[in-house]
Amino acid sequence: MDCLFCKIVAKEIPAEIVYENDAVLAFRDIQPVAPTHILVIPKKHIATANAIDASDRSLMGEMFLAAKEVARLEGLSERGHRLVMNVGEGGGQSVFHIHLHVIGGRDVSWPPG
Ligand code: AMP
Repeated sequence: MDCLFCKIVAKEIPAEIVYENDAVLAFRDIQPVAPTHILVIPKKHIATANAIDASDRSLMGEMFLAAKEVARLEGLSERGHRLVMNVGEGGGQSVFHIHLHVIGGRDVSWPPG
């Protein structure tokens, strides 16, 4: 499958991995929008949040637990940070392998752009 993030999971493309377990991988975004910008992805290929089904229930939980651990490792937990998931082209998604952005280390505003 020609998926960039599947290639990162397979270690065919390098990435700065900050956290990994059997189910998920977290690595630094190549174009960070904040001092800390990490992507949390499932190792299983799922294109978007619109493609999950009931069998992915626990895997989605793994993503949030990994995002929490990444925030702890990066020292973001106390101050707070932002978790973002862009869904589909209209939602700003550019890589079609579901991922959570962990963004922190600077002030953020709302609503997002
Ligand atoms: P999204 O626009 O929500 O699909 O987010 C995709 C993210 O993947 C963007 O923030 C990109 O900067 C990031 N990205 C693209 N290619 C790579 C790569 N090879 N390694 C790390 N991050 C990447």
